[in-house]
Amino acid sequence: MSDLNCQLLVIGAGPGGYVCGIRAGQLGVDTIVVEAEKPGGTCLNVGCIPSKALIHAADEFYKIAHLADSPLGISSGAASIDFAQTVAWKDGIVQRLNTGVAGLLKKAGVRQLNGVAHFLDGKTVEVNSSEGRKTITAEKIVIATGSKPTELDFLPFGGDVISSTEALSLPEVPKRLAIVGGGYIGLEIGIAMAKLGAEVTVVEFADKILPQYDAELTKPVVARLKQLGVEVMTSTAAKGQKPGALVVESSAGESVDISADKILVTVGRTPRTDRVGLDEISLTMNGAFIEVDNKCQTSMRGVFAIGDVTGGAMLAHRAMAQGEMVAELVAGKKRQWDKRCIPAVCFTDPEIVECGLSPAEAEQTGVETVTGVFPFMANGRAMTMENESGFVRVIARADNHLVLGIQAVGGGVSELSAAFAIAVEMGACLEDIAGTIHAHPTQSEGLQEACMKALGHALHM
Ligand code: FAD
Repeated sequence: MSDLNCQLLVIGAGPGGYVCGIRAGQLGVDTIVVEAEKPGGTCLNVGCIPSKALIHAADEFYKIAHLADSPLGISSGAASIDFAQTVAWKDGIVQRLNTGVAGLLKKAGVRQLNGVAHFLDGKTVEVNSSEGRKTITAEKIVIATGSKPTELDFLPFGGDVISSTEALSLPEVPKRLAIVGGGYIGLEIGIAMAKLGAEVTVVEFADKILPQYDAELTKPVVARLKQLGVEVMTSTAAKGQKPGALVVESSAGESVDISADKILVTVGRTPRTDRVGLDEISLTMNGAFIEVDNKCQTSMRGVFAIGDVTGGAMLAHRAMAQGEMVAELVAGKKRQWDKRCIPAVCFTDPEIVECGLSPAEAEQTGVETVTGVFPFMANGRAMTMENESGFVRVIARADNHLVLGIQAVGGGVSELSAAFAIAVEMGACLEDIAGTIHAHPTQSEGLQEACMKALGHALHM
């Protein structure tokens, strides 16, 4: 006998799980969402939202602290920061969003249970909740248990070795911060900390930071890191820790101690499959991740998996889109994963956006392509915003001008990601974008100009 029954049980209330719950509730599916911690998952509690709050605070502080270097003619007194207040402000945003997610689930008629869920079999889950143990039987179950920071054996988390979770709630800005891993999470936090006054060193095993992006896209970020005084050591391997230092092996093969009050390890994310009792249902795995098909269906009928736990692009908006799709499938709608692109934004300074195929991926298709690049130094709005570094780049098929990919690097380009995604998703051709009136003066004109450039007639270059 189970304590609770439902049509759909969602395990985890991160972006994947809570969106799945809301959409299922809207469609009249009797749904329960179980969450071990707070609604909103990694993204809202210790990921996307708190990191962007920290980045914003750091940008504001840095701007004021460096007004004297600015050509704008503005002056002010010395900048100071009450970091505890900054963290409290960030926590306030997180709390508002926690309450908001719980409210949206409630409004959609979804039952919520706080506790750790684990499978007893493919239709039954036991939850250790604050109200005691409960058994839930469900017709369909969605695993949306997300991911956690990857730990290195030789630098285990604890003490001065921290993950992104602790880095976003430090009591004070560390004097010297060593970051292991030059991916987007390490660099976003590292740049913010450098702007707040920390001496930052980034250690990256690969021969470049942000290895998933091409060198042209990362060049302005590399230049900005240098300007901010962030030391970047590429082709360098972290080896361990000494009191007050990170020990690395440099590209020359030498052992080097990097002084550090805190060592932030951001070498990736590991799927969170440890507490959910996967052994009871023996799903087909793809390495450590749960394997799913184009409907997010696992190898066990009636059990779906969405979000970071399935690997691939570990991004909140992909998890949300999968959650929405699975809810509709459970409600009887015909759906499958047929997205042409998942935009990716790197909130470094400057920001990077990538949507659709990269130049290397486009080349791999074997199709002949044309490329148009428009630099922000030729864009009026970028000049007025002091955002002149960077560019927009568009790649299209040479034969029919179908846009295959769009990338940009520059200040504020994260807000262009929607335009890029709509263009790729809707199958726009260069002529569609070039022929669309773009409001002036905006940085989005860079996209129109890049398309015109690819067509051979940029106007403002
Ligand atoms: P999660 O958000 O990880 O949620 C899973 C939930 O399941 C958790 O709340 C967990 O407590 C719960 N859970 C786990 N096991 C159980 C169990 N057995 N029973 C009950 N509940 C359980 N992505 C972006 O798109 N943009 C960004 O700018 C961005 N910035 C990031 C910055 C940082 C510092 C980090 C760490 C991540 C960032 N991400 C960003 C990634 C993003 O946070 C994840 O891709 C997203 O949260 C994945 O959503 P999810 O629903 O799959 O899992």
